[in-house]
Amino acid sequence: MKTIARFSPALLFLTIIYMSCTEAPSKKTDLTKAVTKQDFGQADGKPVYLYTLVNKKGDQVKISTYGAVVTAWISADKTGAKNNVVLGFDSLAGYLAKPPYFGAIVGRYGNRIANGKFKIGDSSYTLATNNGKNHLHGGLKGFDKQVWDATEVDSVPALTLNYISRDGEEGYPGNLKVTVVYTLSDDNELGIEYSAETDKPTVVNLTNHSYFNLTGDVKNNILQHTLRVDADAYTPVDSTLIPTGVLQPVKGTPFDFTIPTAIGARIAQVPGGYDHNFVLNNKDGSLKLVAELADSISGRKLEVYTTQPGLQFYTGNFLNGSIKTSDGKPINKNAALCLETQHFPDSPNQPAFPSTLLKPGEKYHSITKYKLSVQ
Ligand code: BGC
Repeated sequence: MKTIARFSPALLFLTIIYMSCTEAPSKKTDLTKAVTKQDFGQADGKPVYLYTLVNKKGDQVKISTYGAVVTAWISADKTGAKNNVVLGFDSLAGYLAKPPYFGAIVGRYGNRIANGKFKIGDSSYTLATNNGKNHLHGGLKGFDKQVWDATEVDSVPALTLNYISRDGEEGYPGNLKVTVVYTLSDDNELGIEYSAETDKPTVVNLTNHSYFNLTGDVKNNILQHTLRVDADAYTPVDSTLIPTGVLQPVKGTPFDFTIPTAIGARIAQVPGGYDHNFVLNNKDGSLKLVAELADSISGRKLEVYTTQPGLQFYTGNFLNGSIKTSDGKPINKNAALCLETQHFPDSPNQPAFPSTLLKPGEKYHSITKYKLSVQ
């Protein structure tokens, strides 16, 4: 295991005190190392590891090789108190119980494909349907439920994860080699770089499904967080959450987040809550700031940068208290929210949407960065 010393003795002392208060002895993380590796159990007969990335500020991001899941992002609030701003569990059992994609890398196709069907040229494909009549987030056993291979990167706190999705898996054509690189910078930016290559034409839409609650405590819901999204349009959906194909201007609707607005201010006007793809104004595929989330309780702000054309804003509408945090708190409706950078839902059946087709010889590549700061 390759590691790097990052800490001053004073910071080391404080962080060890903190961790000794919050983690079971068997789970202690060595915070003097940029990357540490711990056993996290077994899935599909394979060992699963939990990696902890630590930056010079002492922020920690924990990543499980099961599902390439971000299980925790521990960061300071405006008082200096450190807590976890994403939904996650401290044991693998929580993930094996199939929570709704907490922190996972979602693929081969994140979001929905209508009726689980699409065509590439003259070939028709039928996918697993796991969301009513539709296909959602890669199917019954998507990338979120696979064990990934991991390689530590020792120059910065970073982790490279690889997964090979076999031809026919969940109904998708082509062997797809996927690489995800997580990087934690010293200014608290969690970078996620996605790459993929295929040996047959296929469709790809990769995203990370972290649920954020910037207060760090699920007893507070996210309705008081404010959000800005740089999107002049969104994709309205039918009753099964499949886009109608219209790019609807947000102006004059509860979907207008072009200026920072409390999430709860108009949510009652959106049946069920927000679960919609925003058409980002970022049209040229460059890495741009597309969303800002802020919470006055903790003083935390989260900026989202991406090369992707869309952002699924989901207010945890289907959370209902039945899942509990590792310390036993119920995760209720609106306890956290997702800002999933992606291509638009059902793109394989929507010729007017940006294409998600990947052909042999082409490289799928996208970057998203989540940056935490304190105001
Ligand atoms: C979808 C929601 C879904 C959630 C968890 C989100 O990306 O948009 O409809 O319930 O993921 O599966």
